[in-house]
Amino acid sequence: MIPYGRQAINQQDIDAVLSVLQSDYLTQGPQVPAFEQAIANYCGVDYAVAMNSATSALHAACLALGLGQGDRLWTSPNTFVASANAALLCGAQVDFVDIDPNTYLMCPQALAEKLLQAKRDKCLPKIVMPVHFAGQSCDMAQIYALSQEYGFRIIEDAAHAIGGRYQQQPIGGCRYSDISVFSFHPVKIITTAEGGVATTNQKALADKLSLLRSHGVTRDPDLMSEPQQGLWHYQQVALGFNYRMTELQAALGLSQMTRLDEFVSRRHQLAQRYVAELKDSPWVLPYQTSDAYSSLHLFPVLVPQGVDRKQAYDQLRAKGLGVNVHYIPVHTQPYYQQLGFKKGDFPRAEAYYQRAISIPLHQGLTDDEQAYVIQCLRQLA
Ligand SMILES: *Cc1c(COP(=O)(O)O)cnc(C)c1O
Repeated sequence: MIPYGRQAINQQDIDAVLSVLQSDYLTQGPQVPAFEQAIANYCGVDYAVAMNSATSALHAACLALGLGQGDRLWTSPNTFVASANAALLCGAQVDFVDIDPNTYLMCPQALAEKLLQAKRDKCLPKIVMPVHFAGQSCDMAQIYALSQEYGFRIIEDAAHAIGGRYQQQPIGGCRYSDISVFSFHPVKIITTAEGGVATTNQKALADKLSLLRSHGVTRDPDLMSEPQQGLWHYQQVALGFNYRMTELQAALGLSQMTRLDEFVSRRHQLAQRYVAELKDSPWVLPYQTSDAYSSLHLFPVLVPQGVDRKQAYDQLRAKGLGVNVHYIPVHTQPYYQQLGFKKGDFPRAEAYYQRAISIPLHQGLTDDEQAYVIQCLRQLA
């Protein structure tokens, strides 16, 4: 099977993990801060807080911004369930903003209209969470302008997007947001097996994220209510979790970071070939906006008009292509239907989903494998 996405591990990665195994610290040692520093440097952001997954980081990000009961978070229906779940885990309510039919990203016009209505109904969101689907940045300037007008905070779900850029700046720099979150799951751009990171330029948020990551416990004199009694002394000042990343994961991530740009340029090379060889075919290729440089986590194509998606999917799988579908609109999941959402609520995300197939695109895909993928797609249309 040629997978749609896959990690790329080399000897340097293996050596990095092995050396941690032989060191004094398997967790809470020097690798995590070093990895965080590498991310912060890369993104041009002041703080990076590593966690055991992006799901944890999104949850902690919502809590750090004070999301709780009676509050609302809006996100895109075209995402993995973790984006919306983060709000439910805080006891808040979730709603969605439909996608732009060309970019498959949260539509700024739909957001503006929904905000206008919500203002009248006195149910404005506390947080909006745009998702940089497939690695392409949302229209952050527009979303930020709306946040100034309506007073909401912004968390970028950048799970797909490390190595991508928006208006020439690295995604994760938080120029137009409070917090950005990356995922290091093996199908994403770089991996730590499981892992995620939250970035921010606000010290108070970074402190809060670090507290929530580790039981709400601190030894930082600035965060303690009385002077430290001795080196053993810590205080619990918030209710937190064990969301820590291990040293093994951080060492792998640090090693992977040295090849991040290489991974993303290989993805671009592969995407350019898909475009060159399929642009005259009836498959609809993903649209790239002019102000974004995508990390190209995914290459979602739409099946030709009149072709059944399930049939196409089954035929491609039978030919050995590990194609996948991103995403089943979150509001159509049974859990969300139970909360009152129904099919038809976000028609553009649903229409996109009906035709979408993610074809193989990852740094380890060979030219021969890609030629075979292209041949299979051509045979089908
Ligand atoms: C993968 C993913 C997540 C969750 O990441 P984990 O690190 O697996 O917890 C969240 N949001 C989106 C959009 C994702 O693709």
